[in-house]
Amino acid sequence: MKKRFAAYVCSVVIVLFAVPSWSQEKVDLETITRIRYEGFHNSKVMDFATGLMDSIGERLTGSPNMKRANEWTRDQLTAMGLSNAHLEAWGPFGRGWANQYVNARMTSPDITPLIVYAKAWTPGTNGVVTGKCVRVNVEDKKDFEKYRRKLAGMIVIFGPDGDVKPITEAPFKRESDDDLAKIGEYEPGIEHGVPPAEIRKRRQLMKDANQFFAEEKVLAVIDHSRQNSGGGTVFVQSGGSYKIGETTTVPQLTMALEQWARIARLLQQKKDVTLELNVVNNFYDDDPMQYDTIAEIPGTDKKDEVVMLGAHLDSWHAGTGATDNGAGTIVMMEAMRILKALDIKPRRTIRIGLWSGEEQGLLGSQYYVEQHFGSRPHMDDDPDMKGQPTLLRRQAGPVTVKPEQAKVSAYFNVDNGTGKIRGVYLQENESVAPIFEAWMKPFKDLGMTTLTMRNTGGTDHQSFDAVGIPAFQFIQDPIEYETRTHHSNMDVYDRLLPEDLKQISVIVTSFVYETAMREQMLPRKPIEKPLPREEKKDE
Ligand SMILES: [Zn+2]
Repeated sequence: MKKRFAAYVCSVVIVLFAVPSWSQEKVDLETITRIRYEGFHNSKVMDFATGLMDSIGERLTGSPNMKRANEWTRDQLTAMGLSNAHLEAWGPFGRGWANQYVNARMTSPDITPLIVYAKAWTPGTNGVVTGKCVRVNVEDKKDFEKYRRKLAGMIVIFGPDGDVKPITEAPFKRESDDDLAKIGEYEPGIEHGVPPAEIRKRRQLMKDANQFFAEEKVLAVIDHSRQNSGGGTVFVQSGGSYKIGETTTVPQLTMALEQWARIARLLQQKKDVTLELNVVNNFYDDDPMQYDTIAEIPGTDKKDEVVMLGAHLDSWHAGTGATDNGAGTIVMMEAMRILKALDIKPRRTIRIGLWSGEEQGLLGSQYYVEQHFGSRPHMDDDPDMKGQPTLLRRQAGPVTVKPEQAKVSAYFNVDNGTGKIRGVYLQENESVAPIFEAWMKPFKDLGMTTLTMRNTGGTDHQSFDAVGIPAFQFIQDPIEYETRTHHSNMDVYDRLLPEDLKQISVIVTSFVYETAMREQMLPRKPIEKPLPREEKKDE
């Protein structure tokens, strides 16, 4: 008898282990079916797209359009029936800025219009100015000396030689199976994206350059769009600080690569080149605070627990911020619309956050997390970090969590363009893998197949991840994100892919729904330990 009972127990244990753990995770296929139907047959995602990109446009943090976008999203979320839709202030951020007018043309040796954009947070030219061009190329602060007292009243053609190559690779890309298998591999110690030290070095060189050119009383500074970005696509960001009292006095423009290269060649040949510029930029000092748009669908039996989804609402200013990050914003709005349209009664409260200040360092989401869930000590002795949130700076010290932190099951983010979802970055949280494996299964036919333990950075899920809340960004097809739209003048509505955005909306809705209905909260990984302060340089 004992032997038979022992044999029975063994067989149960074997069966338990034999059944893959993901199959034990419940998936509500009936609701998934309804979500797919609503998302593919009654989608409003492109209505949100034209409302945000065409009727409002660029949304630089601090600009009047940013405020319009905050109010428009709040009103849209209210209209779809969400509760407590409101704007949550953060900051002080600093000065607002928007370009009103820009025109540039060569007047000698040839007369021709030039494709240029004003760099954010730089002043205008105070009317039409004309000046001779001079080439300035510096790698390091000390290189400025050779130009001292030689630039007054001139237009500086600034930066390294322009590298124009024919487009040999298709700018459009979807991840192949091999690509996805590669993404699925975890590479210990490899951090993706531009290292923070490199970002700080570039920022310092920009500061030094602004200082030098202001002292030299140049008319304006013109650099070129990033290397290999030809064809009239211009990638442009900021040229100065948005902080009060730190405004640069030098007008700055970014020019199409080919046109800049022509001027550089002429200067190389010791030919005189004269340009005529007229730039009108406005600074706004009426309100130093900025805003996140927040709204929710109240939960039921677990309403004090929360599932969050979000994306950054702000953008750069040369295009209309369609793929970065209008795409993320509209799929999150669509996810909330689908849940309301299906009259879903979630167990946990579902809350959406549309952040501003992401392009300036994840500011809107960091402040939100600091105000609600946890923070690290501030680094006010560091002039660059004074008054700024420090969640991403481990050398700032340990994280102190607030009671609400324990109530958030997860945060889901989208910020990699218009391309459809192919999987999830698990941010080294192995214990959610079997859960997501199960939730991903109903979308295999839509191309979602891949989980990776890798971290991905540079966007708002990091603010939540830093305080120990499970926070995830989805793996997406690149489409033209890196080749054409990411921070360029061509980041516009027409570069969005409606069917891909519907797929993203359906999958995000489903993951959020399952998280809201699951008996347990999603499992967590430990909060990262602080780094000693002096290890700043290679954090
Ligand atoms: Zn972005």
